[in-house]
Amino acid sequence: MILNSLNPAQQEAVKAPLGHQLILAGAGSGKTRVLTHRVVWLVEQEKISPFNILAVTFTNKAAHEMRTRIESMLKVPARTLWIGTFHGLSHRILRAHWQQAGLPQSFQILDSDDQFRMIRRVINALKVDDDKFPPKEAQWFINAQKEDCRDPGQVEPRDYTDQTFIKIYQAYQDACQRAGVVDFADLLFKTYKLLQTNAELRTLYQTRFRSILVDEFQDTNAMQYNWLKLLAGEKNAVMIVGDDDQSIYGWRGARIENLHKFSIDFSGAKVIRLEQNYRSTGTILKAANALIEQNEGRMGKELWTDDAAGERLTVYAAFNEADEAFFIVNRIRDLLLNQHNLREMAILYRSNAQSRVLEEALMQFGIPYRVYGGLRYFDRAEIKDALAYLRILANRYDDPAFERVINTPARGIGDRTLSAIREQAKATDATLWQALEALINQKYFSPRTESALNAFIALINSMAAKSETLALNKQVELMLNASGLMDHYRKEKGEKGLTRLENLEELINAAHQFTQEGIQDEMPPLAAFLAYAALESGDDQADTYEDCVQLMTMHSSKGLEFPVVFIAGCEEELFPHYMSMSDPHKLEEERRLCYVGMTRAMRKLFMTYAENRRMHGRESYHRASRFLHEIPAALIEEIRFRTKVSRPDTNRTGYQPQAMGRFRIGQEVNHRIFGDGTVLDCEGDGDDMKVTVRFAKVGTKVLVVSYLTTK
Ligand code: ATP
Ligand code: MG
Repeated sequence: MILNSLNPAQQEAVKAPLGHQLILAGAGSGKTRVLTHRVVWLVEQEKISPFNILAVTFTNKAAHEMRTRIESMLKVPARTLWIGTFHGLSHRILRAHWQQAGLPQSFQILDSDDQFRMIRRVINALKVDDDKFPPKEAQWFINAQKEDCRDPGQVEPRDYTDQTFIKIYQAYQDACQRAGVVDFADLLFKTYKLLQTNAELRTLYQTRFRSILVDEFQDTNAMQYNWLKLLAGEKNAVMIVGDDDQSIYGWRGARIENLHKFSIDFSGAKVIRLEQNYRSTGTILKAANALIEQNEGRMGKELWTDDAAGERLTVYAAFNEADEAFFIVNRIRDLLLNQHNLREMAILYRSNAQSRVLEEALMQFGIPYRVYGGLRYFDRAEIKDALAYLRILANRYDDPAFERVINTPARGIGDRTLSAIREQAKATDATLWQALEALINQKYFSPRTESALNAFIALINSMAAKSETLALNKQVELMLNASGLMDHYRKEKGEKGLTRLENLEELINAAHQFTQEGIQDEMPPLAAFLAYAALESGDDQADTYEDCVQLMTMHSSKGLEFPVVFIAGCEEELFPHYMSMSDPHKLEEERRLCYVGMTRAMRKLFMTYAENRRMHGRESYHRASRFLHEIPAALIEEIRFRTKVSRPDTNRTGYQPQAMGRFRIGQEVNHRIFGDGTVLDCEGDGDDMKVTVRFAKVGTKVLVVSYLTTK
């Protein structure tokens, strides 16, 4: 019986009669567990068909996990159950009703990098000064408008700057429409408008989704809220699950207020609170609670656990980022010896750029790892080239794809030719492909250029014709060879070229695997695959089942849990991030992010910081993060090299970093026999101190401190 593994409050939520519910509870209290059990309950007890249920969550990874959990509990097949992200589900609706949405059948999705390039081109075409109106800001403006459901005509300009941004927004929308592409925000916005204006479709979906469940609701934005309200209509039951203390996407338009709004808009919503945490040890929970208490205006929740206190948090003060990475890797090795698996350990960080040093240290020690997010597989240059070819095969009018492939690999089509095509496209309100054909007809180009261009057109057309009847993986293979991409990268020398070739070959595997899984079977395989590539957040970069350490930003760790967690880079200006330090609201969001990170840990939490960090090409010195000071000192064990232990400061209850000693980790030292080396680790006190040194000539050794001299 599915209720057996739930506590009374959780049971109440799972077996409640069909109606609106708001489950407001802290981290690790079983919210996601309630949601999945609720789906199973609805199907098995309430006899609602999986076809009539919609479950929405925040990331593809979470959606995947949710489906697996539900399917393992259900006795009936759940293929017709819709589970996905807001973006993924919107995409599905637009694919099914492309005509009504005013899109070409083969419409493609622009990722944020493509979107940026497109906006930059639009700004140049409009002859707007891109110093005053940088493409990044325009992109931000456009996305923010869409997230608030405003078309260009609906934005109220406050000043001249706004007027220009609106002009850019309009021109960008026109360009997207011509090219048959939509950006991420458009996926939702267009679905919203489609359902709002088309009563028939609205009724179709409103009749279908009798029960709608949303996880991580605290991070929905205005558009997602409206989208949800529209789908819910008057009759459908909506269950939302969230935690105001874990709202971490305010910077991307998420509205905590949606939690309050829900109780008003969805009348009769039953509020259920869960207070028992099942994830973390007492100590981890106490530390996280103490931290989040520093925030004001919380909805207020108390979390407790039955679990033992467990170990104290370990805080490590590193000399620099390399030392920090070595510390983490060393601890991972210790844990491995103590029967831990690698997949039970996660390294979390504030910014993607931190991963490189950590990756290097892991590689050096031969520890397998996976990075979530960061430069995703589908974001790599060679993969984007290959995908652009596939896109243009599917849709010749896809301008961003056109720009990417026209001269990659080089085929003698220069910038001047490309500018002429762009000018023509702009003047005649056409796509680049159409403009190219028109210019050829007008005999605009020199014979040499014309023959290069004709060869390009012929190449694309012939690849499209040949691949029409092929299976998806064969299509990909044909494209990789015929386009010359494989040869192009084969010529690139060294490790890098080899990696690129491997990545391209991996694309054939990805296509094969994709068709095997056949998830989106209602669309043509190529279109479905391209959409998957655009929407997927890099979950496929390593074998999911391989035992490896998990690396990710704290943002992408939401909803997940790991027995051992390392939070790296807990220093001022990095975390909290310097951009948020002067704004109290942003600072609170950073604190929530820290709360999210800490509450991922089940048994053991390490937090590390570096006093000296090289980032963005320069070195800087920072103090330990204020978040460390907000954790009661009694819950922390601090590790660092020290010859003198400073007296605890009784005026402060928070954690205080210890004073520095004679040797520091990362320091250059000399040994009479072994020669020069670098300090990697120190243990013990005074003259008994043992120091681990990596020597240039003889490798790593552990020595007594008195044999060493500093340089
Ligand atoms: P987050 O806020 O981080 O998303 P959550 O509230 O969604 O957390 P879950 O991930 O559902 O929490 O649950 C946390 C852990 O506690 C999971 O491992 C889950 O299986 C376990 N758990 C939840 N409820 C119970 C219970 N009643 N008995 C035993 N284990 C439970
Ligand atoms: Mg959850």
